[in-house]
Amino acid sequence: HQTSLGNLVYQRARTLDGSEIKLMANIELPSDVQAVQQVGADGVGLFRSEFLFLNRLHLPEEEEQFIAYKTVAVALVGQSVTIRTLDIGADKNLATDDYITPLNPALGLRAVRYSLAHPDMFLTQLRAILRASAYGKIKILLPMISSLEQLQQALNLYYKAREQLTEKNIPFDRSIQVGIMVEIPSAVIILPILLPLIDFVSIGTNDLTQYTLAVDRGDAEVTHLYEETHPAVLRLIFNTIDLCRRAKKGVSVCGEMAGDAKLTRLLLGFGLREFSMQPAQVLSVKERVLKASSKKSRKAAEDVLLQYEQVKIRQRIKDLNQKAH
Ligand code: PEP
Ligand code: MG
Repeated sequence: HQTSLGNLVYQRARTLDGSEIKLMANIELPSDVQAVQQVGADGVGLFRSEFLFLNRLHLPEEEEQFIAYKTVAVALVGQSVTIRTLDIGADKNLATDDYITPLNPALGLRAVRYSLAHPDMFLTQLRAILRASAYGKIKILLPMISSLEQLQQALNLYYKAREQLTEKNIPFDRSIQVGIMVEIPSAVIILPILLPLIDFVSIGTNDLTQYTLAVDRGDAEVTHLYEETHPAVLRLIFNTIDLCRRAKKGVSVCGEMAGDAKLTRLLLGFGLREFSMQPAQVLSVKERVLKASSKKSRKAAEDVLLQYEQVKIRQRIKDLNQKAH
């Protein structure tokens, strides 16, 4: 199976009716770039930068971060690299002396909340990313945005980081794009208010499922309740894609759903044109894209959105995959 998929590495991901699909990769460390290149991914849709910060007593300085980000940008010249700012908390705790494990890790001082509580650390990371943007096509992604004020605060620090570099004549890509992760239901509900402030959205279906259903994504006792295809989750995903497309903003899915080939046609039917997944999943998703028609997927996806019973939703997704297109 692996060898036949290998033939797809240099093929463009295009549906039978001509929709061009971007298949990007998720990475955790610069050394993952090799895997990205091996499968011929269209760049990095999610660089989980927190992996540079884990298991160490002292957080990485600006220079170390700059080199890590630049390494990826340079290796993937011509392709875009979306770097997510620190998403600490939940299952990813810092090992520094002053780190307080939140009372409820999923609902505590996580991700952008942590960054806003530590503005100097956040500014250091933003400067490192901006500096690296002089060497490739980098985008900045803010995790776990839940309100307008929080986005404004994060953007204010981003503008401050730009000013700091400008004052010192340090080059960076002045047209760099800034986007947010949509992984909390509140962000979907207020998305029309957030969209004018940003360039793109990346949907984190892992956390979106967790927070919509109030089910801990890592708790084995409740995995049976963790349903990525719950009708409420599917509606939030569809609404996000639809709002972004109408507003002409970029939108991708970077949660596990994007790499699940059984869901490729459903997401295509929702209007998704950019997916980001583990490198090892890129070719099997590409195989599905090549055999799909976006028009037929659209009709079938609309039908899935009318269903409320999980058995019917599952059956329709199965049918969607078994039909010729
Ligand atoms: C997500 O929540 O879907 C996501 C991509 O982020 P992470 O898995 O790193 O929380
Ligand atoms: Mg997440």
